[in-house]
Amino acid sequence: MSDFPAGPDFPPGSVWLVGAGPGDPELLTRKAERLIRAASVVFHDALVGPEVLDLATPGTRLVHVGKRSGRHSKDQASIDKLIVAAALEGERVVRLKGGDPAIFGRATEEIDACRAAGVAVRICPGVTAASAAAASLGLSLTLRGMARKLTFVTAHARAGEALDLDWQALADPTATLAVYMGKAAANEVSAQLIAAGLSADTPVALVENASLPNERQFRTRLDLLPLAARTALGDGPALLLIGKAMGAGLLAASAAEHVREAVC
Ligand code: SAH
Repeated sequence: MSDFPAGPDFPPGSVWLVGAGPGDPELLTRKAERLIRAASVVFHDALVGPEVLDLATPGTRLVHVGKRSGRHSKDQASIDKLIVAAALEGERVVRLKGGDPAIFGRATEEIDACRAAGVAVRICPGVTAASAAAASLGLSLTLRGMARKLTFVTAHARAGEALDLDWQALADPTATLAVYMGKAAANEVSAQLIAAGLSADTPVALVENASLPNERQFRTRLDLLPLAARTALGDGPALLLIGKAMGAGLLAASAAEHVREAVC
């Protein structure tokens, strides 16, 4: 058992779903760090990096329950059972998830399982991948007068199934679209959004491994997104950001060029 002071909000037999952020350990909240240090067992995803796990007190049980598409992993029901069983044994349980647990994090299933077993469960939010990616790009996800709306969408489909998304609603020129789990579906995302009326030259940013030392970022346009996703990205987690706000720096840069030309 960890002898790190847990605080009154983390008694034995309780569960915290903790956001580990996008990867950089400095992007953890102070609360997340305290909970990780105080935990007696940590169930973590594949996307949680070693530097974050290193915060756990020696002797804390670290259990990898990660899910990465295409690789074998525990199913959600087994994860729910593991968490509940550990709490019922009197452990201080941290369920550590990449980014924010409440964004494409299957938090509700785990909360429901805990509550059904009478186990106290709470959420500690984390920095979501879209925020980290925008920060790395030096861009704002919203842009006065141009991107008044921010949509988080997952482009993950079950094997062999088409994406079940409302493309008409997503093809909104006044929005920024943050596409999680979108790398494999880049072709479909690009084709469907253009077919639904979004301009082919809509700016797109791709950020892989946002906030990590091996981060890579690319700027392109919607019609060229499939090519960029295919040729430029490796096998790390990647986020697609689509919308006029993603061209902001470029607009500023080309405006600066014009000014320079005018002055010279
Ligand atoms: N709960 C997480 C999202 C989990 S879904 C969050 O709030 O960020 C997993 C997807 O998140 C990945 O397929 C990828 O699209 C995105 N993602 C997670 N970490 C990322 C990172 N460091 N860089 C880029 N995208 C990331």
